[in-house]
Amino acid sequence: MHSGSFKIDMHTHSRVSDGSLSLQELVDEATDKELNALAITDHDTLQHFSQIDKLSIPQTLKVYKGVELSCEDPLTHKTVHLLGYGLVEGDSPLPFETLAQKTLEQRLDQSRYITQTLIAVGANISWEEVSSEAQDSATVYRGIIAKVLKRVEVGERYKRFRRLYHQLKAQCDKDFRFPSYMEGLIALKESGAKVVLAHPGRSKALHLVPEMARAGLFGIERNHPDNTDAVRREVDELAKEFKLIKTGGSDYHGLNSPRALAQDIAPQDEVNNILELLSYNKAY
Ligand SMILES: [Zn+2]
Ligand SMILES: [Zn+2]
Repeated sequence: MHSGSFKIDMHTHSRVSDGSLSLQELVDEATDKELNALAITDHDTLQHFSQIDKLSIPQTLKVYKGVELSCEDPLTHKTVHLLGYGLVEGDSPLPFETLAQKTLEQRLDQSRYITQTLIAVGANISWEEVSSEAQDSATVYRGIIAKVLKRVEVGERYKRFRRLYHQLKAQCDKDFRFPSYMEGLIALKESGAKVVLAHPGRSKALHLVPEMARAGLFGIERNHPDNTDAVRREVDELAKEFKLIKTGGSDYHGLNSPRALAQDIAPQDEVNNILELLSYNKAY
């Protein structure tokens, strides 16, 4: 049992998905911030799991492996993100991986389409350059294209291509289909994970909690920079009613987001429950 202050950031991203830092840089920053524990929850992949085992991690920091699965509400197509902790890796792909693979492929196809369309109207970029920029990642996120554009184009040309990039991105968003939140919840559970509903304030997804709780939801991300005080109070009530754990994290993406590491952390009164939840798959 742990007593006293224990700082856990349970929601962070590296370059394996859409963060800007390498896994080691993320661990180093967590050490500088004097976090006691860090969960790395890259999107839709397990690619970071084996890499975390090779990192240099100080004794003062526990590092845990997690994932964030992109899902949607099939009625509204609004995104619903699920955090999964404690996935049990095996020899064959986990149900989580099979489901998430479709999302990674859609991202790759859309990034290729956007890049080729920009090239067709004269942008000075190439698919080789874009994909090599994304070499640490499990797919090619669209933000990489914007980064390369900014590096190779200037002035009015840059502004014109940047505008087109945003138009193409919006067009692609309409076609993007994620698994339903229920499919996602089941696939994560079948992969051994404890499932937490991420940033319910941003997703406006708290009305889904009763149905998800009946299907085995484990917790709700109470502390997140996008959750207002009203959302946090609502989470407190739902967690009590459905006996769910309350978690917290910053959703830090390095330079790719305005949020700071440890800006939000797990609630202190849940630390023992959370350490038990995370201990299913410790990095070391
Ligand atoms: Zn998210
Ligand atoms: Zn996230």
